[in-house]
Amino acid sequence: MAVENITASWEAVVGVDIGGTKMMAVVYDRNFNKLGVSRKRSRDKKGGDSEGRVFTVINEALQEAGNPVISGIGVGSPGPLDPHTGVIIDTPNLGWKNYPLADVLARSYKVPVTVDNDVNVGTYGEWCSTDLVHCRHVVGIFPGTGIGGGIILNGKILHGFSGAAGEVGHMTVVPDGPYCGCGKRGCLEAVASRIAIAKEVAALAAREDAPFILERCGTDLSEIRSGILARAIELGEKKVEGVVRQAAYYIGMAAGNLINILSPEAVVLGGGLVEAMETLFLEEVNRGVKDHAMPYLRRNVQIRPARLGDDVVVLGAAWLIVEYLQTM
Ligand SMILES: [Zn+2]
Repeated sequence: MAVENITASWEAVVGVDIGGTKMMAVVYDRNFNKLGVSRKRSRDKKGGDSEGRVFTVINEALQEAGNPVISGIGVGSPGPLDPHTGVIIDTPNLGWKNYPLADVLARSYKVPVTVDNDVNVGTYGEWCSTDLVHCRHVVGIFPGTGIGGGIILNGKILHGFSGAAGEVGHMTVVPDGPYCGCGKRGCLEAVASRIAIAKEVAALAAREDAPFILERCGTDLSEIRSGILARAIELGEKKVEGVVRQAAYYIGMAAGNLINILSPEAVVLGGGLVEAMETLFLEEVNRGVKDHAMPYLRRNVQIRPARLGDDVVVLGAAWLIVEYLQTM
């Protein structure tokens, strides 16, 4: 969808990214120029009230934009959530349970509101704001603290029966493998997320097999972040490199399975790990895809890093509300 194809009458829209740790709102004009931006932590140190913060971040962005008339609000939020009703089912990080976010915002701002999973929205933003817009079928995989996935089929986000389709991170890749946060064993997230990598690297550090990591982070998982892992690999810590390569290969295995089932034109990889170690990640993901996708299905599939950074969710959310406004 190109900007010039938008025919519905709309003025400005607001895109909102509600992350577990930070929130961001951007007001866009009809040409997707930014009129106002606001960022906040999702909760303060005392716990705080996430609902109030969503209003603050939107109001601040509107104020910076000079309080224009807005036609709608698009939101990307952690799930699980129901994209049809805009109800957030359960987000422990934000303290929301069956929270009717879309209704609350629609009543307050008196405009239509769309709410979708943040990774779906991020994949959508990447799709419609880059040359990927020429593709009809795109899979997004975002390894970070967990592993999120978004699937676009025929130019639409795939929601499935439950509304929560696209949980790539919970695809089983190692039967009877390590436990995952979801309670199952051997999910992709349990062997290839930053936390999974950090656990193995911390064990290497404890055995003095990763001296740079031991010196910089000790064995503290929260300290073993993407940039530190990249630096350790640059400094020649081969065992650390082996752990990261294995994780990236598992992501390639999952991507290969998705290619077999969905036959996308492109697989986009985003998030901090990929940004910090792009070449290594792409090498291993390509190897995993080659080993696990059927040759006819993987032929001509682009496997590439995400091009948009921090703005991808707000931009995708803004596009989704504009698309919705066009159907009204
Ligand atoms: Zn899982």
